Amino acid sequence: MAHQQNPRARSEGESPALRRAGDTIAAVATPSGRGGIGVIRISGPAAREIAEGVTGGVPAARHAQLARFNAAGGTFIDEGLALFFPAPHSYTGEDVLELQGHGGPIVMQQLLRRCVELGARVADPGEFTRRAFLNDRLDLAQAESVADLIDASSVEAARSAARSLAGDFSRRIHALIGALVELRVHVEACIDFPEEEIDPADRAAQSAKLAAVIAALRTLLDEARQGAVLREGLSVVLIGRPNVGKSSLLNRLAGDEVAIVTAIAGTTRDYVRATIALEGVPIHLIDTAGLRRAADEIERIGIERTWKAVEGAGAALFITEGDAQPNAEELAHLSRLPREMPVARVVNKIDLTGAKAGLDGPGLLRVSAKTGAGIDALRAWLLEAAGWKPHGEGLFMARERHLLALESAGRHLLAATHSIQAFELMAEELRLAQNALARITGEVTADDLLGEIFSRFCVGK
Ligand code: GDP
Repeated sequence: MAHQQNPRARSEGESPALRRAGDTIAAVATPSGRGGIGVIRISGPAAREIAEGVTGGVPAARHAQLARFNAAGGTFIDEGLALFFPAPHSYTGEDVLELQGHGGPIVMQQLLRRCVELGARVADPGEFTRRAFLNDRLDLAQAESVADLIDASSVEAARSAARSLAGDFSRRIHALIGALVELRVHVEACIDFPEEEIDPADRAAQSAKLAAVIAALRTLLDEARQGAVLREGLSVVLIGRPNVGKSSLLNRLAGDEVAIVTAIAGTTRDYVRATIALEGVPIHLIDTAGLRRAADEIERIGIERTWKAVEGAGAALFITEGDAQPNAEELAHLSRLPREMPVARVVNKIDLTGAKAGLDGPGLLRVSAKTGAGIDALRAWLLEAAGWKPHGEGLFMARERHLLALESAGRHLLAATHSIQAFELMAEELRLAQNALARITGEVTADDLLGEIFSRFCVGK
């Protein structure tokens, strides 16, 4: 795996102009299909020429200009608005042109083709945001939150992604890095002195500062974990015979919150029956109904994929009516669940038996999808399995990658506290902790990571 530094880090000493040089990209920035308007976005040095070629002139900076969009030879394509954002005051930091036309697929295709004739190339997924990152318009955590905002499947998830995009998360990381730099400067200055010459009071002061950084990191990690729950949610396996009330329970759980089926780029979710949001936490329900027999090869592949999802899920609900014992099929499904997976036995239709609603021992819930009795307890159980703690405002979106980096920084800081008697070791641990944090905002990043992050974006973003 190549772990060279990204061009942004490599080109620290180069001028912004040099960094901006390169080709010009174009893409349809609005979803494909019919719409009130459709937007073509162009970024790069040829943006001016393309503006001239398509509209006959370059619009005044940041002013909407009504224009005719023409194909080669002056053939009329559409009439719409042209907007020009000269570098560096644009999304990507380069010259950016936006053409807003009528949102029909043929209009968009013709416009895009014209841009390509005039020197642009069709952009890769996420390439505009990648350029924004490389030109220091946003850091890596912010760039990721752009995709998270677009993919958000609940209002809460969208809000927290917006907060990360505004830089809330990055500022917290930078504050930690700032405190670490201060500590490192001091500790490294002391390295040149023999250990015995270091004032014990000074050592105690450094130790207190380090403890404060560790405490701040822990708080941040806690919040980031909640942000990650909002982003990833929880996958829940549904086990139960036909007619025990799985669909009815699902509708009850979803309540007034609209059930949304999320399509997350790069993952196949065809085994997901539905995604519902509980307090904004997406709960992906995986149906085991399809795990019967495979009639053909395609079905077999589907079944394998479902098993993988079942094994990777975060919790399972085993739904019965009354206290029926599991049959052979249910036993087979239950036995394939990983041992550590939380499983709740949900006894439904208690309106028919008169049993008491709610939690009735660890992992045993009695409910009625029909009357709604016991549903609150089921919701609470699911949220707990997701690791969700009710939280006030102020969450920011975080990804698994961020959690790993924060945890790694935490380990190095802990090692630093153990080496407070040996400043050289301590200095090294502090440096490693700082590096781990810098990976979050992308100050230190491997190229393959950038490729992975941006390839999951949509084209035109
Ligand atoms: P699924 O096949 O497991 O998805 O089951 P459904 O949700 O389709 O429910 C099967 C039948 O049971 C339907 O007629 C529902 O109205 C009924 N049902 C579901 N939950 C309850 C409940 O809590 N009480 C009663 N009395 N009937 C229920």
